[in-house]
Order: sequence, then structure tokens, then C-alpha cells
Amino acid sequence: MSVKSHYKLVCENIKTAYKDAKRQDKEPVLAVVTKNFPLDDVMPLIEVGHKVFGENKVQEAEQKWAEIKKQKPDLELHLIGPLQTNKIKEALGLFDVIQTIDREKLADKIAEELKKAEYGDKKFFIQVNTGSEEQKAGILPKDADAFIDYCKKLGLNIVGLMCIPPVEDEPSPHFALLKKIAKKHSLKELSMGMSDDYEIAVQLGASLVRVGSAIMGSRA
Ligand SMILES: *Cc1c(COP(=O)(O)O)cnc(C)c1O
Repeated sequence: MSVKSHYKLVCENIKTAYKDAKRQDKEPVLAVVTKNFPLDDVMPLIEVGHKVFGENKVQEAEQKWAEIKKQKPDLELHLIGPLQTNKIKEALGLFDVIQTIDREKLADKIAEELKKAEYGDKKFFIQVNTGSEEQKAGILPKDADAFIDYCKKLGLNIVGLMCIPPVEDEPSPHFALLKKIAKKHSLKELSMGMSDDYEIAVQLGASLVRVGSAIMGSRA
């Protein structure tokens, strides 16, 4: 099956899960995760009009997307991997949405940089380490309330929360926890669900799912 037919299938599955859940809010957005795949492999999706894509590394995304984004300004690129403070300028120059705000120093430096230059409208998600995993990025759930307030006070346009549940866990409790924290802070966007669990995420209220391999194929 081609990338395009996988894509259509995933779109249908999202629609079905959304309808089955009888949600009253808007249909979830699909961010196609294209890390490790060249732009040539992505072009069929751009040609059918898909606009939202996710990448996890600044450098790789820059090489792949800088040029095509100039040609097609309505493409929307999301950073879904950890951001180092020395890559902030580059990231703000390229990405429309940064989903991985997870520490004060990073938030401080982004706010500082946004004051220095005109980057246009940017949206940010706070990444929550819902499984409190030591090696994983994201703010710990116990620190999330204070951190969300901190980022809002800095003036960052925080639109929602993002999580990556531990691989060995049932994802549902993590999605539910993310939703609970977001609700408490009136944050509308929930970035949750990947190839293996995006339908569950949609049932539990995801506003955006990040799907890579189910569309693009397995990454080498
Ligand atoms: C790679 C990646 C995805 C996509 O993973 P698949 O299982 O291939 O769908 C989603 N979110 C993040 C943060 C990723 O790094």
C-alpha cells in the first residue's frame, strides 16, 4: 500500500473514532510525522493538500522543510522533539508550533527571543511527562500546574499540552491525566496519540494526533 492510501485510512479511522466518541468539539487534526523520511516521500501528501506535519529534530527539519515552506506558506510545521536552548532561533524561524516546552530555562529563552525579533504567530504546547519517566523529556505532573502558570506569565501563547506515554503502559490513563491537567487550566489543545494508539487518544479527547509509521512506513 502507498503512503497516500495509508494516509486515507488513518484519516478515516480518526473520523470514525471521533464520531463514535460523540464528541462535541472539533474534529482532531492529524500531524503526519515525517522524521527520517525525505521530502520526496512526503510530497504525495502535500499534493493531496495535507498541511500539518511534525518533525523531532531542528536540523533535519530545516534541511527538509525550509525551502518548501517558502513556496507553500500554508504548510504548518510542528516541533515534537526536545528543543535545546542553542537551537531556539532556528526553531522559531522554521516551526509554527513547538510542542515540547518543558523547563523554565527553555521558556525564558523563547520569551526573550520572541521579544528580539518578529517571528509571527507562534503556538506552544507544554510537554508533560505523564509517566514520570526519568529519561523522558517533559515537566513532571506534580510540577505541571506551576509550570503552566509560569509560561503564561511569560506571555507565551500556550495552547495546550502534549504527552508521550511510556511504551510499556496502557496509554489511556496517561491521556486522561493530560486531559485533566489541561481542563484545570482551560487549555483546549491536547496533542496525544501516535500510530499504535491514536484511535484511543481520539476517543479520550485528543485535538491533535501525531502519526508517523502508520502512514509513512517503518523508520529504518
Ligand atoms: C516519532 C514520533 C511520533 C510518531 O510515532 P509513530 O509511532 O511512528 O506514529 C509521535 N510523536 C513523537 C513525539 C515522536 O517523536
